[in-house]
Amino acid sequence: MKFIPFLKPNIVKKEAYLKYLAQIDEARLYSNFGPLNSIFEKRVLSEYFNDLGAITTINNATTALILAISVTKRPDAKYALMPSFTFAATPLAAMWCGLKPYFIDIHQDNWCMNEKQVDHALEKLGDQVAVIIPYATFGTWLDLTYYDRLQHSKVPVIIDAAPAFGTSGKNGHLGKEFSGMIVFSLHATKPFGIGEGALVYSNRSEIIAQVRRASNFGFSDGRECLFQGLNGKLSEYSAAIALATLDEFPQKFHKRNTLHKIYCEHFKKNNLFEKGWAMQKTSGKIPYQFISVLGPKKISNLDIVRYLKDNSIQSRTYFSPPCHQQRIFIDYPRTSMRETEKVSQGIVSLPLWEDMPAEDIVRVVSTLRKMEE
Ligand SMILES: *Cc1c(COP(=O)(O)O)cnc(C)c1O
Repeated sequence: MKFIPFLKPNIVKKEAYLKYLAQIDEARLYSNFGPLNSIFEKRVLSEYFNDLGAITTINNATTALILAISVTKRPDAKYALMPSFTFAATPLAAMWCGLKPYFIDIHQDNWCMNEKQVDHALEKLGDQVAVIIPYATFGTWLDLTYYDRLQHSKVPVIIDAAPAFGTSGKNGHLGKEFSGMIVFSLHATKPFGIGEGALVYSNRSEIIAQVRRASNFGFSDGRECLFQGLNGKLSEYSAAIALATLDEFPQKFHKRNTLHKIYCEHFKKNNLFEKGWAMQKTSGKIPYQFISVLGPKKISNLDIVRYLKDNSIQSRTYFSPPCHQQRIFIDYPRTSMRETEKVSQGIVSLPLWEDMPAEDIVRVVSTLRKMEE
């Protein structure tokens, strides 16, 4: 039986960025916000954010989260509110900034942080909340009205939208005109993959200028160190790949979005929803990174992963265990984790890659159906 891998990252081929590499050889500028980096930032801002606000590149999204938290957190406050159902990078970033993660439960349908519980935590913790870091779970579009209001009421908000570059909803790109900050990852396994890299966007240019300074040692224009920064800059080689990716992204987006549709059709055709399977309730147009589903209550997700493996299909269980059950985070405060624990016990992440043939999807879904029989 042919092996179906979980992911098969497909970064643009060298032919697509040779012309940009030639420009690096010509300019002899290799980092420090060089010309390719500037063109990339300008193009992203104009092609995806209508030239509203500002954007800066960072060498990866974990560093981007650290820098965004560090320039915006309320002084003397100690907690970073975030979902437990997210990637470890988020609580780790808070810890690197001297904060304690405070984990909040998710909604049962879209698996994003529950705003009502954020409200309760804000009432309880008051001035001790340094920052709030919601996650656009698996790249879904999120209505940011609530978080925009919090940001205006002086509680800093940073959206972790790591896999969501390209996601759009009713007002355009996710995060467009958001007054907090939003972070996108350009890691190889994300839909806009370039290897390593990240983007931070806000409609407040001054906060993005701060993050940019922070990514260059906190230097002033006169190279005096003004505040605690580090080296988080993107190299011109990465910017070359990023520019070539921007050229091809509409096609990449379309492929990922279409594969998700095929999955949905086959889930319906095989009556998997009637049999107790569920998909994440997403909204907007999304360049799916992979397919996240919940198995029927009576089956453990580890059994599903094992069964798929026996059938030469690779799958994952993002995010199981959730953060609050991982050793380093286990003692941090949290709300009840009812929905988080339900979702993380049932979650299975199914294969998706840009050149995945439809017949592989048919095989993945019919294998799941046969497990039921
Ligand atoms: C990938 C990911 C990150 C980290 O991104 P890097 O660019 O690899 O540092 C953070 N949060 C979430 C939810 C992610 O999926």
